[in-house]
Amino acid sequence: MNELDLINQAAITYHPQPAFSSPLSAQEKVDAIAAHFQEIMQILGLDTNHPSLSKTPDRIANMYIHELFRGLDTTSFPDMTYVDNDVIEETQGMILVKGIPVKSTCEHHFVPIIGRAQVAYIPNQLILGLSKINRIVDYFCRRPQLQERLTAQIADCLSILLHTEDVAVVIEAEHFCVTLRGVEHPSSRTLTTCLRGIFHNDPLYKTTLFNNLTT
Ligand SMILES: [Zn+2]
Repeated sequence: MNELDLINQAAITYHPQPAFSSPLSAQEKVDAIAAHFQEIMQILGLDTNHPSLSKTPDRIANMYIHELFRGLDTTSFPDMTYVDNDVIEETQGMILVKGIPVKSTCEHHFVPIIGRAQVAYIPNQLILGLSKINRIVDYFCRRPQLQERLTAQIADCLSILLHTEDVAVVIEAEHFCVTLRGVEHPSSRTLTTCLRGIFHNDPLYKTTLFNNLTT
């Protein structure tokens, strides 16, 4: 499988979105969403001709397509750079990136999910440029999401790109659908883990991973 096929496969992953590809262009999507959102605002009784509100439907539509949900477009998958692994050899040392911002949207309520991700892997032949891990997390965040699926998609993607099962993804996040509405508990956070390969099988790696998260 060549590099482009790998990246395409990584962009889709084994835990796909419940979504289908639309024939509309990005601008056609923006126009259609803006028209529908204007109707929603009018149903709410808002005056969409008022100067303060007249551009809101366009703002919402552009924000959905180009910011919050841009990760639904698999062509927006970030460019990847690798280096050959000639630094970490038989020691099976881990690479752990902590504190990666998670800015996503709950697919049940379309309100924010805000938190942090920690991503670890044991390099095989390849090491990924460090900021690429942050970009992969961001790419999968930019969709209507479930935190459980998001965690698994990042793990799938790294497994595919790095040819290794030894990956771990931990996400801790606040769900605004829990803090703003429903039970309205702002102190509540959700932790999800996806531990594969040695992070799942070897208690030492699991312990090292979690010790590093809390320090
Ligand atoms: Zn929700």
